[in-house]
Amino acid sequence: MYHKFGVSKYPSTNITLEQFESHLQEFSLSKYKVLSLEFILDTIINDGQLPNNTIGISVDDADKSFLTTAWPKFKEKNLPVTLFVSTSTIVDNNKNYLNWNQIRQLKNEGVTIGAHSHTHNHLTELSNTEIIDEIELSNNIFLKELGVIPSLFAYPYGETNEKIINLLKNYKFKVAFGQHSGVINETSNLYYLPRFSLNEKYGDIKRFKFLITMDADFSHDPKIINKMSDEEAIIYLSKLRQIGRWSAEMILLFTFNRPNIWPVQDIGLLRAISNNYKKKYLPPVKFINVLKKRFDPYCSVATWYLWRSIDNEPIQY
Ligand SMILES: [Zn+2]
Repeated sequence: MYHKFGVSKYPSTNITLEQFESHLQEFSLSKYKVLSLEFILDTIINDGQLPNNTIGISVDDADKSFLTTAWPKFKEKNLPVTLFVSTSTIVDNNKNYLNWNQIRQLKNEGVTIGAHSHTHNHLTELSNTEIIDEIELSNNIFLKELGVIPSLFAYPYGETNEKIINLLKNYKFKVAFGQHSGVINETSNLYYLPRFSLNEKYGDIKRFKFLITMDADFSHDPKIINKMSDEEAIIYLSKLRQIGRWSAEMILLFTFNRPNIWPVQDIGLLRAISNNYKKKYLPPVKFINVLKKRFDPYCSVATWYLWRSIDNEPIQY
């Protein structure tokens, strides 16, 4: 997933033109199959078969650079794209975002338009009524402006919870996307689908090649781990070394000093949680997830302390 193209004022959501060109070149190789998100998800929902290295491309927020910079190139190379749009931002003369005429133009030229709430607020902080308003207001505007309500939804900031998912299911959305790293397959939660975020920091071509092939063997370069999120690095290490998730997490904790690792398969950690929080052993998964949220973004530090709490041998430093 992308946001902005060649708008270097915002490096966390932007991709440079050089990076974008290198991605386009890679997408065009015959080993990949770039298909529309709708087709990919319909195939998965109907238990169909997808080719190896199938990729879906999405762009969030309807930034102007999508129309001026990215879409002409995607179109030229016949690469299907879904654009997720927050309806409140689509007004005439907005400095940053497209207007409805431009969205209609994109739709006519083959871009799939997806829903992205009305205001782009953090949905997890809203009441039920406010969430319903976000969905219905956006649906009504799409119906008025495009004559159709999108069937794909992307959560603003990728944030959701069970309550939001259940509300969303009352509408005709087939699937909904987060923005956590991961590969989609037949076991994915259709209302919390992962996407790999591509921006200046994480737009490096080596990382990109790994993400779109999930093939780690060709370029063992420990430095590329620094360009990956924790979840990507866990997948990468597991693929590369044929090791399990726990081992990958230990490598990230001890070798790479990642600050936010929460190794939920670790027996020591689970034992320490039971002891410290007076929970049965094994502690309930829900509770482990509550703690993860509480300690975020310093789960590694919490893990160290929890390990120490059950380690009654004094340690010599
Ligand atoms: Zn967004």
